[in-house]
Amino acid sequence: MHVKTEVVSPYGGHLVSLLVPPDSVEILMGKSFTLPSIQLSERSVCDLELLATGAFSPLNRFMGKDDYVSVLNHMRLANGAIFPIPVTLPVDRLPELGTDKRLTLRDPKNIPLAIMTVEETFSWNPDEEARKVLGTTDPRHPLVSEMGNWGRSLISGALQVLQLPRRYDFRPLRLTPAETRARLEALGKTNVVAFQTRNPLHRAHEELTQRAIRDANGVLLLHPAVGLTRVGDVDHFTRVRTYKALAEKCFEPGSVVLALLPLAMRFAGPREALWHALIRRNHGANHLIVGRDHASPGKDSNGLPFYGPYDGQQLVSEFSDELGVRMVPFTEMVYLTDQGRYEEVSKVPAHARTATISGTQVREQFLNRGRALPQWFTRQEVGEILAESYPPRHKQGFCIWFTGLSGAGKSTTADVLTILLLERGRKVTVLDGDVVRTHLSKGLGFSKEDRDTNIRRIGFVAAEITRHGGAVICAAVSPYRTTRNDVRSMVGSDHFIEVYVDTPLKICEARDVKGMYARARRGELPAFTGIDDPYEEPLNPEIVLKTVACTPEENAKLIVEYLLEQGFLQGEGRREERREPDRTEQDFSLPAMTEQTSPSDPLAG
Ligand code: ADP
Ligand code: ADP
Repeated sequence: MHVKTEVVSPYGGHLVSLLVPPDSVEILMGKSFTLPSIQLSERSVCDLELLATGAFSPLNRFMGKDDYVSVLNHMRLANGAIFPIPVTLPVDRLPELGTDKRLTLRDPKNIPLAIMTVEETFSWNPDEEARKVLGTTDPRHPLVSEMGNWGRSLISGALQVLQLPRRYDFRPLRLTPAETRARLEALGKTNVVAFQTRNPLHRAHEELTQRAIRDANGVLLLHPAVGLTRVGDVDHFTRVRTYKALAEKCFEPGSVVLALLPLAMRFAGPREALWHALIRRNHGANHLIVGRDHASPGKDSNGLPFYGPYDGQQLVSEFSDELGVRMVPFTEMVYLTDQGRYEEVSKVPAHARTATISGTQVREQFLNRGRALPQWFTRQEVGEILAESYPPRHKQGFCIWFTGLSGAGKSTTADVLTILLLERGRKVTVLDGDVVRTHLSKGLGFSKEDRDTNIRRIGFVAAEITRHGGAVICAAVSPYRTTRNDVRSMVGSDHFIEVYVDTPLKICEARDVKGMYARARRGELPAFTGIDDPYEEPLNPEIVLKTVACTPEENAKLIVEYLLEQGFLQGEGRREERREPDRTEQDFSLPAMTEQTSPSDPLAG
């Protein structure tokens, strides 16, 4: 039996709680419907939740001007408490307030979350905040580019929180700071080591967290950020499934608490690391593991890192005593192939054979090819979950986007290609311009606006099909470059194959399959592409087809070749490759994979 112990107190002595008492919820909820209101962004919803539950204690509201200025310049609230990151509520335009100055804060679906009594409105300068907090105004920094779109006024005032944002996923793991502390205290250890993560965890992470809790004689708070992370990160649904598998199967019972933190990350490097330490103290942790490039925003416009690799470790160490959170440096673990175990890189004997797999290799050499990750690198349970979420290329969706003049040969080639893909076992949807115009786009004409709408609708459907692993072939004139590029972004460039059917106008006109060119020449069809409306050739299409020199069948085969090269189709010899993890020696002597895992890599640690 464990004895209930006390873990470290919240920063500032007690946990802030902004939730109104249950018996006043109904009345205040009624009131909230009558007040002027604003809609919060996803980011502000996350911030509000962490304010409400005390994760940001002692901060108890979106910052007012004194706190804001002090945080920017000194990493402290106006009262001197450490607080390195601005938590503000930007608005474009404040609605007219009544004499009581009350304002309802709604979530993006308009559900009321809180009532703010507005005490301050002040302007801010995104450039200044970026420079001071992020140390850069480079738009490659994900927060810099986002901040440009935030409202130009900040509002602040006392908050009455009516309800926490509704979260339906992984309910048992969504623990408030108070709930997290109670779980930790039940484990009977005073020392709690927090591990912040936004990536799937591999064996190396498991080893280092195990060592950290052993060294501290403590327990682990496995505390993934599941609010906003970086575009391109592994989605949190997949990640949390892997964390659950690890926490259940690979840790001693009673040595770990897994809790999800609805944190909207800022990628502010060192300042963010310090913020993470403060947030974890409020959840009961008195240690935080800080690795290389903690909370890294990736590379800047010149391909250079925004922060020094160990800046985060240094800043957290500097504040460690005052904050009451020890910085545990993340020691890089490497796999010793001959001994079949992990060791800290600093303790590896000279000439020992080591192996590591980078995030890029995880994706390209294993998941994309349907090869199981070796078990020395990733637990089988984790590998299987990743494999489900990241199927091999030949099971991923793709979009073949034909573009070209009317009569160029888009539909004819698409028909042959469809048959060849079906023959290879892919499921295919064809979205032909002429056909789409009879249902999805019925009623649209050929003005620039209507044509763009038509193409965007096709693009929307194509993106959905691709996302769900289907093959989609689109054949529409799609004369405008910008619109085609928009569609490329909707589908995702990796899965979008633009095929320019490059048939000269005079050939198309000579073919005049539907008699339309003749009518256009007679002036009966205004704005006909190629005659009196422009066709903008693609600048960098993946494939260019000639229809005078090549038959539709030859062209369709060219596309099939391309798909084979890209891995979207499986070559005949490849079929028998399976996903089962092989436990042979081979696993332990992977071809010199010494490239380091990079934290900016979605599948890396
Ligand atoms: P689009 O879909 O681009 O408007 P279609 O495929 O409907 O064009 O029409 C192209 C016409 O050109 C068809 O009548 C087809 O038989 C003829 N054609 C001749 N050679 C080729 C070729 N190599 N590829 C595609 N179509 C060709
Ligand atoms: P988009 O929507 O990209 O213009 P679609 O492939 O959906 O292209 O529609 C083009 C087809 O509609 C042509 O193949 C042609 O048969 C017919 N059409 C009718 N009017 C026009 C026009 N003004 N310009 C181009 N195609 C037209």
